[in-house]
Amino acid sequence: TLQDRLQSAFKNLRGKGRLSEADIDAVAREIRVALLDADVAVSVVREFIARVKERALGAEVSQSLNPAQQVIKIVNDELIEILGGETRRIRYAKTGPTVIMLAGLQGAGKTTLAGKLGLWLKEQGKSPMLVAADLQRPNAVTQLQVVGEQAGVKVFAPEPGNGVGDPVAVARAGLAEAQRTLHDVVVVDTAGRLGIDAELMQQAADIRAAVDPDEVLFVIDAMIGQDAVVTAEAFLEGVDFTGVVLTKLDGDARGGAALSVRSITGRPIMFASTGEKLTDFDAFHPDRMAGRILDMGDMLTLIEQAEKAFDSEQAAKDAEKLMGGSFTLDDFLKQMEAISKMGSMTKIMGLIPGMGQYKEQIENFDDREVDKIKAIILSMTPAERDNPKIIDGSRRARISKGSGTQVKDVNGLVDRFFEARKMMQQMAKGGGMPGMPGLPG
Ligand code: GDP
Ligand code: MG
Repeated sequence: TLQDRLQSAFKNLRGKGRLSEADIDAVAREIRVALLDADVAVSVVREFIARVKERALGAEVSQSLNPAQQVIKIVNDELIEILGGETRRIRYAKTGPTVIMLAGLQGAGKTTLAGKLGLWLKEQGKSPMLVAADLQRPNAVTQLQVVGEQAGVKVFAPEPGNGVGDPVAVARAGLAEAQRTLHDVVVVDTAGRLGIDAELMQQAADIRAAVDPDEVLFVIDAMIGQDAVVTAEAFLEGVDFTGVVLTKLDGDARGGAALSVRSITGRPIMFASTGEKLTDFDAFHPDRMAGRILDMGDMLTLIEQAEKAFDSEQAAKDAEKLMGGSFTLDDFLKQMEAISKMGSMTKIMGLIPGMGQYKEQIENFDDREVDKIKAIILSMTPAERDNPKIIDGSRRARISKGSGTQVKDVNGLVDRFFEARKMMQQMAKGGGMPGMPGLPG
């Protein structure tokens, strides 16, 4: 498998300072195969790999991941980024009904999607209406009526006098009907052919011009593979669309079409269809799709676990240090910097039990204070930082001069440090969280 191949390619690389270009090339080759297997378009693969290489070359070797895992993580992160870019909800019209037009090849899943969207919109508290503007296939209107009934959503179908035979007139009449009957969302189902077809593309463009949709959703079958690019480009050019819906994700397609369409058109993937039932439908999840394209679920889980374990290892080490009472001025400085970095920390504070009471102190925490503390601590010798007890009067005078501060500032800092250390030790004895050490009272 891809995982095995990658693992063996990188067995001996753990501990290197930085990923070398040759290392990255080797993984890139494997990833390239994986993406092509997933039916990502060749041009998209090329560009994508170039991006990943650039990022991987600059990356420090991670403590918790081996080089192969690290590159895979970069690949996965980039995939999610590209697939998710700006995941976006439906843009509803400010006044009048929101018009959502569906476009795509025949069999892509438009009519089924109309029913799914109808049900979903109803659940969002909307009052949708479906409009049957596919007059190409004899049973297309009936099919929409059936899914509309299943979804419990009104369907507007052409009748004599409503423009029978003219899908543009039907779409226009449907919109007028929705306005009259106060439906707030109109979903316009349209015709598609088996291949790209100029006449049908023109029809879709005409419908678009007639109803001026708020959203045009390009519906594409995930199983279509490498053809996705040509199809998407044709619809972008012929009709233009604002979002993409990927269907038949319940099949065994690896979903490379998603990456291709998103990369080439720059349009967001908004929904995913995963079956024939009306409830087989959900907002699009970039992380799930990235995992599917890479087909390395186990590996990605491993990577996540390794990273978590590393974090908690570090945290355990820090805690051990505190418990042992070896809390030094360097640690104190690190703590101050961490607090100031968390500028918007007050939000997080609410989440940590017992921390809410320090909200105000943290909000008032002054960054300039940290700079001063830093200047003072950096003017101390390593011996003084390790063992602040030796900092006597003459040392304090020297430190204040060196840091451009007053002796009383140095005194204040040393006092606060001892206070913080006492609190840390109390905490370590199981006293909980007596106060935020180091914070200005
Ligand atoms: P349209 O020609 O674009 O309107 O496509 P349809 O809605 O008629 O769908 C074509 C076929 O694909 C029908 O048999 C649907 O039941 C089926 N279909 C649509 N969406 C999905 C899906 O997400 N998964 C599966 N397995 N089948 C689907
Ligand atoms: Mg249809």
